Amino acid sequence: MARYTSLIQLPRFETFNDALRENYIRIETLLRFGGNENIQLARRLRDCSEGVKSCNSLACKLCNRRFRLEKVDGLVAKIRSEKKGKRKRYWWMVTIIDYSRAFSCEDLDSFDVQQSKDRLRKLLKRSGFNGPIVGSFEVDFHESCGLWLPHFHLLCRGTKQNRRAKKILTQKLARQQSTHIKKGREPKPVKFQFVKRYFTQVSYVYKLVSNCVYDYDSWSIGKIRTNKKRLNDAMFCRSLCWMDRIGRRRVLFSFGERDWS
Ligand SMILES: [Zn+2]
Repeated sequence: MARYTSLIQLPRFETFNDALRENYIRIETLLRFGGNENIQLARRLRDCSEGVKSCNSLACKLCNRRFRLEKVDGLVAKIRSEKKGKRKRYWWMVTIIDYSRAFSCEDLDSFDVQQSKDRLRKLLKRSGFNGPIVGSFEVDFHESCGLWLPHFHLLCRGTKQNRRAKKILTQKLARQQSTHIKKGREPKPVKFQFVKRYFTQVSYVYKLVSNCVYDYDSWSIGKIRTNKKRLNDAMFCRSLCWMDRIGRRRVLFSFGERDWS
């Protein structure tokens, strides 16, 4: 397996031109849909895409790409360097879903991301986790029930202390998040995966995209599966404006990162 030294070397990571193309899709959709806020955002994205003025908006694929390259490369280097000590350290990629705070379309603008992060920080602390834990907040729209589902993607060290905390967190979440947003589904509020493919998994944690999740019947396994697609135009515009308004810092999460040496 190739040993990558930067996210930019990954064949699946978007090129500058991919990001540019995506920005033009966003601009075109915003302009077509119209309205003051959409048009203002489209103009800023256009200026950024044409190299007139960098926008640094969370709604901009180019600016997010630049951010992700720097963030992911920095984190992977840091995580890898930890393996050089006497003992081998491993990391988890953790997904935490908050079914209890799923919300409808109209509530996107009023959803309090800061409060959600504060609650997670408390939960991690009470479960006994040690930092650094870093990651991002994301929302996906679930088409079949018409709800936005907030969740976090995190990176966390698999130390002895954190293995204990993992058990406590799993129990707490099983109690707190006992119902799925869709009927007849088993809730899976938390998932721990070993970080093996550093660049792929760390960049997934910082993908900074809102998708539409849809269900489909899988004939091959006879079960309902989910997949992701682009949001419809109205919701796409709304989510872009929302992302632009809240900004990148608001969706980034960290816990005990200051102690990271
Ligand atoms: Zn930009």
